[in-house]
Amino acid sequence: MKVLVAVKRVVDYNVKIRVKADKTGVETANVKMSMNPFDEIAVEEAVRLKEAGTVTEIIAVSIGPQQCQETIRTALAMGADRGILVKTDDEVQPLGIAKVFKALVEKEAPDLVLMGKQAIDDDSNQTGQMLAGLLGWPQATFLSKVALGDGAATMTREVDGGLETIEVKMPCVGTVDLRLNTPRYASLPNIMKAKKKPIETLELDSLGVDTAPRLTTVSVDEPPARQAGVVVPDVATLVDKLRNEAKVI
Ligand code: AMP
Repeated sequence: MKVLVAVKRVVDYNVKIRVKADKTGVETANVKMSMNPFDEIAVEEAVRLKEAGTVTEIIAVSIGPQQCQETIRTALAMGADRGILVKTDDEVQPLGIAKVFKALVEKEAPDLVLMGKQAIDDDSNQTGQMLAGLLGWPQATFLSKVALGDGAATMTREVDGGLETIEVKMPCVGTVDLRLNTPRYASLPNIMKAKKKPIETLELDSLGVDTAPRLTTVSVDEPPARQAGVVVPDVATLVDKLRNEAKVI
């Protein structure tokens, strides 16, 4: 069984985001970049499925500039078998990414595509759903448990107020949520081994996919700065402030 895993290169989640002066986006120059945290969970799940003997091949895919190769290398060090880099320096929005994945699915014929539920840079939560729509494949979003069977998968989803377990026919698209697993750190020997694993590089233009942006960012703004807190001398003052200033009780 073959699994395609999406790995997006995003600003590292520990970095304090700075909005560009012209408000067109966030600053990415000289900023630490890493694999989208949800994609790490997707890679980890694929590797666990391989270790359990259900999956035979894991292909890590990233779309973006040449540096995305580092993100693919991280996936290879975690246990993916090979990588595909679809190279472009242009902005590609979720619909465009989904179209690129559709082209790769037609080339690679995987049984499962695993993606993050959202990328922490655009917070779109769209790509997996759009890919399933374009392919006409079943989808299971917000996964907290994955069990692959013969021609079908049993997937548990995180929904408001609980968990929902569904069965979907394969091939299918799955998007993973936070509680599915805890991703491993790549060991030094595996980082060394990953250097020898193959990464195929494709130019975005060679795929013949229309990835022109459909959305225009009007403005990106910092959240309002939080006001400084005060230390109150006693409970009575606290209650008074909550009642008369904050008006929350
Ligand atoms: P989004 O819909 O933008 O929130 O992204 C959801 C998921 O789609 C991410 O967690 C990735 O798994 C995948 N994805 C989005 N953009 C890319 C990209 N440029 N390269 C690889 N995977 C991507």
